Amino acid sequence: MAKDSKLARLPSVDKLLLDPGCASLLSRFGRQATTNAIRTVLAKFRDRIQAGEDLLPSAMDILGDAEEQLDTSSRGSLVKVLNLTGTVLHTNLGRAALPEEAIDAMIRVARNATNLEFDLASGERGDRDSHVENLLKEVTGAEAATVVNNNAAAVLLTLNTLALNREVPVSRGELVEIGGSFRIPDIMQRAGTILIEIGTTNRTHLRDYERAIAANTALLMKVHTSNYAIQGFTQSVSDEEVAALAHSHELPFVTDLGSGTLVDLTGYGLPREPTVADTIASGADIVTFSGDKLLGGPQAGIIVGRRKFIDAIKSNPMKRALRIDKITMAALFSVLSLYRDPDTLKERLPTLRWLTKTNTEIADVAAKVMPAFTAALDDIATVGVEETHSQIGSGALPLDLLPSRAIAIKPKTTSGADSKLRQIAAAFRGLPVPVIGRVHDGRLLFDLRTLDDPAELLDQLTHLQIE
Ligand SMILES: *Cc1c(COP(=O)(O)O)cnc(C)c1O
Repeated sequence: MAKDSKLARLPSVDKLLLDPGCASLLSRFGRQATTNAIRTVLAKFRDRIQAGEDLLPSAMDILGDAEEQLDTSSRGSLVKVLNLTGTVLHTNLGRAALPEEAIDAMIRVARNATNLEFDLASGERGDRDSHVENLLKEVTGAEAATVVNNNAAAVLLTLNTLALNREVPVSRGELVEIGGSFRIPDIMQRAGTILIEIGTTNRTHLRDYERAIAANTALLMKVHTSNYAIQGFTQSVSDEEVAALAHSHELPFVTDLGSGTLVDLTGYGLPREPTVADTIASGADIVTFSGDKLLGGPQAGIIVGRRKFIDAIKSNPMKRALRIDKITMAALFSVLSLYRDPDTLKERLPTLRWLTKTNTEIADVAAKVMPAFTAALDDIATVGVEETHSQIGSGALPLDLLPSRAIAIKPKTTSGADSKLRQIAAAFRGLPVPVIGRVHDGRLLFDLRTLDDPAELLDQLTHLQIE
């Protein structure tokens, strides 16, 4: 059959819309989206026929393709995944998972009007931050607190408020990059702050800070070097010393704590990380930290410290551009309240529950899921349980690794093993609930520390298809 007569035989959009096979599409997706999808599919077939392909799709073929397209686009691209990478707080996988209480609180305020900025006692306009400020004061020992979109915003807003067009000395050892796009020097520049680099990469002394203080100095600042550590011949100045120096010149002392934690993690058998309360007690006038790192809450940037500086930060017009919404506020309150009872925190906060999982617990999960992995991959890969190390992630405690167990998958083929491994990893990412692991040394590893429900993973394995 000639191209032209094939093209002429393609059913029209109107005809396809009236086809009985289209009724379910119309009721599921509506007339507009269904019509658009049919048009797109018809155009594709037309192009292929034009290009010389020998095909003549039926109405059923066309509607089938349209349904697939509608299904895919209505699912959206933001989906739940199983994070088995071994990085508990994985920035690209959305960091902390929230506790049930926080999810319930988010749903309640999402569904309804709330008193977000409304004072129920007076009937007047209220303060957004008031919903979490008392709790933040209680758990950090600070005088005042405010909350913005994330810690990058917290640093930006703090500097823009307290150091616009003025100088801020920072140690060269602390000019870090976090996650590719956040670099301390860049954020300082965008905040309108003049960065004065002091000391060297490995050693900075108190006299370096002293010498840098000039008439135009706005404040002294320390940045917690969360995601790397300098070892060997090193020297940095303690918070107490920098605070004392700043105060003797009547300057505020600001600390970007990065992850920051509200409790002493050694109490849970984890490595030590400075708490926000410690940092405040050391004399910091302002401390900024993330809501979704070790804190285990929603994405937020928390700023705590002296009342007069917090007041200034809150009245910066940029605060309006960086503030959080009612849903984040509800989640943050709920997560912060868990910190009032450190004894039950480990059970109730997913981040801490995962970080404190014992090797025995993880090995139990491994034993449960191992046979299903073997069965699913028997022909193409050897499967085993391997000792591995998980990471906290998001820059916290980069050198401290947590002993864990992973399912390790190694392709049986020796030629083209790498591409086979990539293919297997892609198949896991293509599951209805994508399962994300990590490739290490010729093996695909699924770290089981963060798997709460083995049944969920086993269910996904039944969908696995690898040629
Ligand atoms: C993570 C981090 C930031 C950025 O925090 P976000 O919440 O990701 O914006 C800033 N400073 C330090 C030291 C960090 O570790």
